[in-house]
Amino acid sequence: MLLQSPTLSTKDQEKTPLKFRRKLLSLWLFISALLLVCCIVISAFSQGKIDSIKIVADDNYPPYIFRSEKGELQGIIVDEWKLWEARTGIRVHLEGYHWDKAYHLMLAGKADVLETVFFNQERAKIFDFTNPYAKLEVPVYYHNSLSGIKDIQTLRGFTIGVKAGDACISVFRQNGITTLKEYNNYEAIIKAAANGEVRVFCIDRPPAVYYLYKYNLSGEFNYAFTLYTGEFHRAVKKGNTAVFDVVTNGFAKISSNEIDEIEKRWMGVPFIQPQLIRYAIYTLFIVGILILGLVIINILLRRKVEVKTRQLEIAFGELSRSEEKYREIFETANEGICIANATDTITSVNKKFEEMVGFSSAELIGTNFRNLVLPEELADYGKVFEERKSGKRSVFERNLVKKDGGHICALISTTSLFDGKVFLGTIEMLTDITERKISEENLRKFFLGVEQSPGSILIIDINEHIDYANQKSVQTSGYSLSELINSSKREKSEESDYAVRNRELWQLMLQGREWSGEIRSFRKNGEPYWESALISPVRNAKGEQTHAIVIKEDISEKKKMIENLIEAKDRAEEMNRLKSSFLANMSHELRTPLVGILGFSEILSSTLKDQEHMQLAQSIYKGGRRLSDTLNMILDLSKMESNKEIFNPYPLDIGALTREVAHSYSSAASNKFLSLETVIKADKIVAVLDDRLIRNILHNLINNAIKYTEKGSVTIEVGTEIHKKKTWAYIKVQDTGIGIHEKNIDLIFEEFRQESEGFGRRFEGTGLGLTIAKKATKMMNGVISVESTVGVGSTFKVRFPVFEQRQDTDPAAGAQA
Ligand code: ADP
Repeated sequence: MLLQSPTLSTKDQEKTPLKFRRKLLSLWLFISALLLVCCIVISAFSQGKIDSIKIVADDNYPPYIFRSEKGELQGIIVDEWKLWEARTGIRVHLEGYHWDKAYHLMLAGKADVLETVFFNQERAKIFDFTNPYAKLEVPVYYHNSLSGIKDIQTLRGFTIGVKAGDACISVFRQNGITTLKEYNNYEAIIKAAANGEVRVFCIDRPPAVYYLYKYNLSGEFNYAFTLYTGEFHRAVKKGNTAVFDVVTNGFAKISSNEIDEIEKRWMGVPFIQPQLIRYAIYTLFIVGILILGLVIINILLRRKVEVKTRQLEIAFGELSRSEEKYREIFETANEGICIANATDTITSVNKKFEEMVGFSSAELIGTNFRNLVLPEELADYGKVFEERKSGKRSVFERNLVKKDGGHICALISTTSLFDGKVFLGTIEMLTDITERKISEENLRKFFLGVEQSPGSILIIDINEHIDYANQKSVQTSGYSLSELINSSKREKSEESDYAVRNRELWQLMLQGREWSGEIRSFRKNGEPYWESALISPVRNAKGEQTHAIVIKEDISEKKKMIENLIEAKDRAEEMNRLKSSFLANMSHELRTPLVGILGFSEILSSTLKDQEHMQLAQSIYKGGRRLSDTLNMILDLSKMESNKEIFNPYPLDIGALTREVAHSYSSAASNKFLSLETVIKADKIVAVLDDRLIRNILHNLINNAIKYTEKGSVTIEVGTEIHKKKTWAYIKVQDTGIGIHEKNIDLIFEEFRQESEGFGRRFEGTGLGLTIAKKATKMMNGVISVESTVGVGSTFKVRFPVFEQRQDTDPAAGAQA
């Protein structure tokens, strides 16, 4: 502290006049002046005789204290001290230094007051501090290019620009941050920041703001955080209460308004006037209320929304579940479902629909439903579709094309969908009625068949009421349909045999049995007629008998015809018997004289010498022989037909027998220059046969073969063969003769029938040989067959079951069985 002699002003004393009054006045004035001087002197003494004061301060702490362009100190503190000086009358020597220097000058006792000083415990040991007069933040700033700096710990590793002697240094060090770069003053830090020397710095907010704006760096550096908040004090040497009091008393004389005025001057007038601030506060208050209201409304709304959301979630869940359910119903429905839009383009189909038409959903979706309609039904379909647009619900049958080219008949039920009045499309439910249609058609045909049946058909319930009668029933009975339907069968057949046997038949039918037979009925006009009837029970699905079906045929005519036929047959049989008897008698009667003719003609031909007479006798013998053969055959046939043929079968070696018979035809064959060959395939082929009959067969077949063959050969073969798992003995007579037309194959086995008949026939014969051969073969359980080609030849074959030793020892019995 520097104490300087105070500079006092004195007033010259006037010399008083001699006159008393003047003397008195002069005395009063003198005393007054004396008193005044005394007061001043006392006053000067009472103030510790401080007439000037030296203050040191940081000269680089804008806007509190800093130097102008000219180097003069300026700022809030400068102005405040000027005012202090004016108020106290004590001269103020305010000196600005680098803070460090100012601080050390103060320590060295070369100043009375240290300005712009922050309080700390260390300083408190050496200084007395006035009350704080300004609150100051000490923030950390960082360059835009950096990030992540948010507290003191995040500063590790960064070089931090600080002012030498600044209180922040000890704060950093206490927190372990030692990478500090000290500068003489704040401006130097800002300049270092401007040229990139440091990117992080710590400067009290007021000078920081001042210099950042001054050097146009406010856009490049960001406020990171406030390291601490300090307060500006004024400090005097510890215990220097005189100065402390002078300083504090002096500032007590300065009103806060005056201080505000000074600060305003240096810090600028706030943009917003107090009035405006008040309005702003009101506005803010109202806005706050509104915001609060809005917040409350918001909270309420949020709760409502949450409740609604929960409800929606539940509803959505239910909707999803129900949609899932409907989708499942849609997919598993037994009906085909097809959804189409307003242009009838398919938008969705279910599985059943796919199965019905054979197309996959991918093939169907996007195509027009019309593509599935048969071309001949398109016009009608178009009409129905137009009706649907007007909301008309329709059910119709439609034939649809299937993928495999076939078609199905579907019963379609459509529902139109609307959004207001706008037609959206249709939902079509399809039932495949193809089978039903076929059944209906079959039923229709069946019904028509029954209805138009040539037989009478009646369906009668178990109470004997006629449920159904077809047209023929009406025609045959003469009753009208309603007369038949509305009456019981008993009434209608009261007069008939059927009625007579009614109870019995009905009982049979009720037992589930069928009855068939002939019944005599009466028409409405009383005319009797015969019917062939079949009565069958009709059962329901449970197997219970509910009805009977009666199928009848008017057989009056047929019956008459059969009666006639039976009569004719009886007559024919009688005639046949007579014929056989006649033939037998005639044969006998003719044979007796014929024996004489043959005998005598034979004698004559051997005794007559005359050649001509001898030839005549031979002709008589030949004609007689032929007549005898014919008679024998007629006789044989008669015997067979009248069952008078004596039949005596026993095992015969048919090979040897055939060879013997064939041999007798050697000369006949050689006469016609034919080769006759007999082939026996096995040593002994035995069959149970009647000797006479088998010889008869062989004679007929070999005789015919030679007779109907002009050139070539006749081959007779005997062997065995397996036919239908049975061993047969066969005799085959094969020729190279004229052959037989296929159409006549059956005919030649009939009696008296020949291929060539009438007067123009080429060959002699009776047409009885094969008839007898067939009958004889049949009698011996054999079969005769022929294969023939006209111009090539014929093969006749007879087969008989082979006799086997292990068979019954009584062959005759076996053969006749
Ligand atoms: P027929 O006395 O006329 O020979 P058949 O009953 O023996 O009488 O024969 C009937 C007919 O069958 C013959 O008239 C003949 O037309 C025909 N027929 C029989 N055997 C032969 C054969 N081997 N070749 C051609 N035709 C034959």
